[in-house]
Amino acid sequence: MGHREPLNPNERMKKDDDGLHCRARIENIYRYTGFDGIDPGDLRGRFRWWGLYTQRAPGIDGGRTAVLEPEELEDKFFMLRVRMDGGQLTPASLRTVGQISTRYARDTADLTDRQNVQYHWIRIEDVPDIWQQLESVGLSTAEACGDVPRVVLGSPLAGIAADEIIDGTPAMEEILRRHIGSEEFSNLPRKFKTSISGSPRQDVAHEIADIAFIGVVHPELGAGFDVWVGGGLSTNPMLAQRLGIFATLDEIPEIWAGVVSIFRDYGYRRLRNRARLKFLVADWGIEKFREVLETQYLKRTLTDGDAPPVWEGARDHVGVHLQQDGNFYVGINPTVGRVSGTILTQIADLAEAHGSGRIRTTTDQGLVILDVAPEQVDSLVAGLAAIGLSVTPSTFRRNMMACTGLEFCKLAIVETKARGIALVDELERRIGDLDVPLTININGCPNACARTQIADIGLKGMIVTDDNGDQVEGFQVHLGGGLGLDAGFGRKVRGHKVTGDQLADFVERVVRTYQKEREPGERFARW
Ligand code: SF4
Repeated sequence: MGHREPLNPNERMKKDDDGLHCRARIENIYRYTGFDGIDPGDLRGRFRWWGLYTQRAPGIDGGRTAVLEPEELEDKFFMLRVRMDGGQLTPASLRTVGQISTRYARDTADLTDRQNVQYHWIRIEDVPDIWQQLESVGLSTAEACGDVPRVVLGSPLAGIAADEIIDGTPAMEEILRRHIGSEEFSNLPRKFKTSISGSPRQDVAHEIADIAFIGVVHPELGAGFDVWVGGGLSTNPMLAQRLGIFATLDEIPEIWAGVVSIFRDYGYRRLRNRARLKFLVADWGIEKFREVLETQYLKRTLTDGDAPPVWEGARDHVGVHLQQDGNFYVGINPTVGRVSGTILTQIADLAEAHGSGRIRTTTDQGLVILDVAPEQVDSLVAGLAAIGLSVTPSTFRRNMMACTGLEFCKLAIVETKARGIALVDELERRIGDLDVPLTININGCPNACARTQIADIGLKGMIVTDDNGDQVEGFQVHLGGGLGLDAGFGRKVRGHKVTGDQLADFVERVVRTYQKEREPGERFARW
């Protein structure tokens, strides 16, 4: 028994038929048969290749998540993920995204921490119409989920930031053109996450990507990218490692394809929880990984390179900031990424009315409106405030993330989004604000979709025992994780679990102790 055989059910499903092929069946069969006509291999497997997951049926508590069969947990509606590579939108495309939500998704829309938008309550009968509308504005759900190269994260400020090292957008576009939606990489061992940022802010969570390209200046060759591989969170979190090479903008697509090919050809396929690229990188070591890339795939030696300086400030883009051309960008982080079709349409209208032609989603469940002329800024800020979106939110509102959780996710054990919104309200009422960023990430299960281990306060959903001996929703607490200067995983506070009801008291206690005990300027992760 090795790393590849025997095939698990997912591998058999992929071998039976390429995930990309289910689109034709949706367009030609399932839109007419409805949910009950869907082949189970498509329903619980291949649909992901087009961004579709069945959503959790309402009313099933988290305690039953692990014991029920998948079909007992699922509803006849879908979550649909729209990929937004580099987060790149226009007012017209964002308006379309909003209108689809209102028309087909009961006005649901969540901004994810991977620059996507997710809908809920989607009917299979409506999916072909939704695709047609998305594709008419240059958006897609192709390979938004599944064992494929997922959305490419890009700096929301690509091409506009005054301090940009290099714009990675052409490399991202080339990867999309050559490889996304192609059967060359449509059967990987597991998902594959890419990040590209030429911003010194390193604003694409490169430490937890399968592959990342981060802007750096080479002393002789000029601006290019430092390359990282093998990061990922979930139950065996690992930080990405530097390959030790310098890549030019033109080299990115070739190096990217080489690394994805290694993953396809050598990645582990026997156990899904050991299949991410990080396990191969950890087993081989970074020197062997680079050697295989150079000798077997690229057939040439890559240029050695050094790491860029680590960005010391906040990585997000909230607030009003100057661009290189004298215009401004305006960043907002809707609380835990929860918006609606109505709000997205309003944001699109506001952006357009204030002369902006470009909007970007971010890697922390937010949005940035670009190219706002100085004289339009105040009016735009007021318009956003009128729909509940502040450009100067408290650190709690600005930095909290929550995954989908029990409301819609079949793997969830606890509720997350509504709990996160209530927690922010409560912390603002009790504490007000903090003078340093503090990230609180709420996750509905150990899968860490909202990055449990790299938050100042990371919360992993689980069933816990309360003071009365009852089994209730709660969290395992991780403290002191971070990215950038504080890159590392939060310490599991030994045996420390809180019930959902105790959450606000617990966080308040931690924050007040930190405020009392810290040295001046000491960040939470260093405390
Ligand atoms: Fe679902 Fe768990 Fe991911 Fe949350 S962390 S979205 S509950 S799989």
